[in-house]
Amino acid sequence: MPDFTGKVALVTGGGSGIGRATALAFARANATVVVSGRSPEPLAETVDLIEKEGGRAAAIPADVTDAAEVRNLVDATVRDHGGLDIAFNNAGAFSAAPVADMDEDAWNALLATNITGVFLPMKYEIARMRENGGGVIVNTSSNIGAHRRLPGTGAYAATKAAVSALTRTAALENIAAGIRVNAVSPGPIDTTMSLLPGETETQRADRMKTATPIGRVGTLEEAAAAVLWLASPASSYVVGHDLVMDGAATA
Ligand code: NAP
Repeated sequence: MPDFTGKVALVTGGGSGIGRATALAFARANATVVVSGRSPEPLAETVDLIEKEGGRAAAIPADVTDAAEVRNLVDATVRDHGGLDIAFNNAGAFSAAPVADMDEDAWNALLATNITGVFLPMKYEIARMRENGGGVIVNTSSNIGAHRRLPGTGAYAATKAAVSALTRTAALENIAAGIRVNAVSPGPIDTTMSLLPGETETQRADRMKTATPIGRVGTLEEAAAAVLWLASPASSYVVGHDLVMDGAATA
């Protein structure tokens, strides 16, 4: 378990799924955690869960597609908690349709959330981290798009390929400033996002027996552990990397 004592970690999409699990893991590793997302209620629940375990956390709602809100999120994190050492840019959405049937509004909305929603936090986080002499950024990509293609997921795939490209470019641009930028590319993880419309968790478990070589979804703990490793000094020589964690789906 890495030790992030004295570090401040910002997690977007921290009110649910991978973001909440990773926020809890950062707090258990002694970081002060700021969770963000659009809806205040799930963020307050994450803060409550962390505080009940004796950890330190705060919620700052923000829409990652809105530049003013993202700038305020980063500024308030630094102002209220004394710095920004780790950023997990994880907020994202999924939308499925064949390319020929993709609704233009749905396309634009997904690009805004998944691409602009990683670009804007990075822009403001990097500025603050440069002022403070360094930091670590981990972005959530996906094995879909960044590493494999699946019919019906063209828009999502395009956004995640963009996240991986943005990650690698920002890594090269900021390595000399002491900022390590990496990405994680999960396969199906145990959140509502990996459920097909109307599918139960039991049905998903049956589907995963053949849909992934490992025969199951990844757990929230497995996803969080990969992010914490990339955020920790244990991965200090890992820069501009996109860590696939998908039970060999892309092996
Ligand atoms: P999730 O529980 O639906 O989490 C998505 C989070 O993003 C929510 O907390 C949501 O909060 C936040 N969010 C969405 N749009 C936002 C916006 N405009 N501004 C701020 N926050 C926003 O699903 P998840 O599985 O944990 O997904 C987390 C990340 O993992 C996503 O980037 C997803 O693409 C990626 N991923 C997931 C899987 C999987 O199988 N689960 C696989 C590969 C990659 P609000 O709605 O309150 O804003």
